[in-house]
Amino acid sequence: MSTVDVSDPAREVLNQPPPLQPINLFEVDVALREALEREGGGWGMDRARDAGAVAGSPETLEHSRRAERNLPVLRTHDRFGNRIDEVELDPSWHWLLKGAIEREVHGLPWRTGDPGGHVVRAALFMLWSNANDGVMCPVSMTYAAVPALRDGAPELAAEWEPRLTLPDYDSGALAGMAMTERQGGSDVRANITRAEPVGDGRYELNGHKWFCSYPPCDVFLVLAQAPGGLSCFLVERGPGMEFQRLKDKLGTRSLPSSEVEFRGIEGRLVGEEGRGVPAIIRMVNHTRLDCLLGATTGLRRGTVEAIHHARHRRAFGALLVDQPAMLNVLADLAIESEAATVSAMRVARSYDDGEGAFRRFATAVMKYWVCKRAPAHAAEALECLGGNGFVEDSGMPLLYRDAPLNSIWEGSGNVAALDVLRAMAREPEGLPAFLAECELGAGGDRRLDEHLSRVRERIDQLFAADEPQFQARRMVEDLALALQASLLVRDAPEPVADAFCASRLGGDCGRVYGTLGPKVDARAIVERALPG
Ligand SMILES: Cc1cc2nc3c(=O)[nH]c(=O)nc-3n(C[C@H](O)[C@H](O)[C@H](O)COP(=O)(O)OP(=O)(O)OC[C@H]3O[C@@H](n4cnc5c(N)ncnc54)[C@H](O)[C@@H]3O)c2cc1C
Repeated sequence: MSTVDVSDPAREVLNQPPPLQPINLFEVDVALREALEREGGGWGMDRARDAGAVAGSPETLEHSRRAERNLPVLRTHDRFGNRIDEVELDPSWHWLLKGAIEREVHGLPWRTGDPGGHVVRAALFMLWSNANDGVMCPVSMTYAAVPALRDGAPELAAEWEPRLTLPDYDSGALAGMAMTERQGGSDVRANITRAEPVGDGRYELNGHKWFCSYPPCDVFLVLAQAPGGLSCFLVERGPGMEFQRLKDKLGTRSLPSSEVEFRGIEGRLVGEEGRGVPAIIRMVNHTRLDCLLGATTGLRRGTVEAIHHARHRRAFGALLVDQPAMLNVLADLAIESEAATVSAMRVARSYDDGEGAFRRFATAVMKYWVCKRAPAHAAEALECLGGNGFVEDSGMPLLYRDAPLNSIWEGSGNVAALDVLRAMAREPEGLPAFLAECELGAGGDRRLDEHLSRVRERIDQLFAADEPQFQARRMVEDLALALQASLLVRDAPEPVADAFCASRLGGDCGRVYGTLGPKVDARAIVERALPG
């Protein structure tokens, strides 16, 4: 007979928050709901509500846990020694990816062409990223491959687009990309993979790629050196594309990322020979948008988890959410998240409206900034859960491990910042279009007006400086904050806009999260971030 007294109060589970799930991640995201309507995606409300409900369900959470626990395994050969190059994936991975495809996160705007399609798709992307970050990689690459094919090879687009945009996991197709080599990632012109013409617009590719995510993709856009210079090719997965090993990564561990060797595989030209970078940049601009969306999701996710925990956890006789020091942290996390949401959705609208100059410039600026904000935000949100936040069950370690990634791929921090500088120097319409958008908030807050004046002065001084690149990050940061503040001043409730301008532009804050000044209405901000 047991000697353990099960009624012993010391064995009771006390003071632990209830699970966050089920939660409709769209219903509780007031800023996202407003932005979806405002930016022209109002017709996507029902789609977003469905994605928010399923992404916030306990079932989805469990699938994500399983996909993260049962990691992909590369099988290069069958038992007889034949090359097979297959990746074994947990059924939960397929469940999660299928969920994204069926919701058309990979192809909605291309398939329907409806106005606001990119905005609706952006909301769906953010909501489904909550389900699992890893699966969003092939979703994003597939979305981004379509415009590159349309522009660079209409006949290949006609062949592949119907399958790449199909909302059917079994009969659709997925696209990946292979640019990065051992000796050159950012510097793709250093690529040494070779492409020999074999006639009829076809080439034979030989070489190696150091990063190639989601090897099960059906097609890949690949950079290689042709006789006319670096060129872009569409390669169908098959014999001659050999996967060597999977990377052992910090985050997105559910996602297989491989090293691959091309041994005489066929590639078909996308764009002109020697114009590979412009051809693939069309794809990269769209995956950069998704980096912005993915990082925004991380900020939102951390904010929600932190507020939920603080609302249910007591310490020193009061709920954490009622303790001023914690309230400051939560409000600070929340304004960062809302600023990211409104700017990401505004940038997404430029993909609908054909605002080429603003789109290209704003994507680079906001990709840099929001992705840079993610890791520190995740760390702070994790700490709000105390020791629980350090434990896998809470989901916070996953958020934390994934947080740096969006800043690395599709143009790492410096590369993104230098890209903005390059655009300022060489694309005369980008910066004016961006500043014109920021000016729409002028007059709404003194601190924004002063910030915009400082930005203009800094721009004037930048190119007179000996080393403009030395100041690139600071320049881009200032631009990003101007856009975020402008959008909040115009569209967010006063407590949010005021706290943002005071802390991010007016200097009324310290250097870590949770250092907002005393006049901020933190309670209103937290209530808006997670109505409860
Ligand atoms: C999980 C994961 C998945 C990936 N999947 C893919 C994929 O599917 N396909 C693919 O092609 N690639 C993929 N990549 C590769 C990724 O795009 C590259 O790692 C990235 O572009 C950086 O290139 P690199 O690793 O060669 O770093 P480098 O180019 O060597 O850069 C190193 C550092 O130097 C900085 N830097 C570079 N140039 C300059 C400069 N001129 N001035 C100042 N600083 C500079 C960079 O910002 C960076 O901080 C993936 C990477 C990761 C982590």
